[in-house]
Amino acid sequence: MRVAVYCGSGMGKNPIYAEKATELGTVLAQNGYGIVYGGSKIGLMGKVADAVLTAGGEVVGVMPTHLQMREIAHPSLTEIHFVESMHIRKAKMVDFSDAFIVLPGGGGTMDEYFEVFTWAQIGLHEKPVILYNINGFYDLLLQHFDRMIEEGFIRTDQKSLIRVAMTAEDILKFIK
Ligand code: AMP
Repeated sequence: MRVAVYCGSGMGKNPIYAEKATELGTVLAQNGYGIVYGGSKIGLMGKVADAVLTAGGEVVGVMPTHLQMREIAHPSLTEIHFVESMHIRKAKMVDFSDAFIVLPGGGGTMDEYFEVFTWAQIGLHEKPVILYNINGFYDLLLQHFDRMIEEGFIRTDQKSLIRVAMTAEDILKFIK
């Protein structure tokens, strides 16, 4: 089983983000899960990938050729797929994965999160999408989700699609 990991190409200011990214990679590999991710060695994504590889797990990278220079492809992945566009990257990452985990990140991470979240909303897949709320990073987004529900823009019965994990163990429970 493989899970897609979406997270920042930056490391974040607080060292807790990198610590928790490393811990997550280790826990996933120790429990037999491989990961699918953007294929880069930079930022939090590089941390998760390194930890999975160190713990003997499988890591599949999917990188658009035009990002190869900017994001620096990780040299020791189990598999790396070079693709023509961001759209193909995102579609392949969804196809290759059985669940999605979203760590802290910026606009790219949010784009990836909202794509798989909204695809679940309209029934295009039934795979769990999990926000890993390290250091309360997503508290304001979760408040905004409450507002979207209160104001009638997300249906109450779709609230269950917003899965939030506070620890790596919570994530394992969701994906098991
Ligand atoms: P960020 O969260 O902005 O650091 O980006 C994290 C990952 O999302 C990186 O691997 C980027 O290649 C990817 N990314 C950046 N911009 C976009 C975008 N517009 N659509 C999809 N993915 C993106």
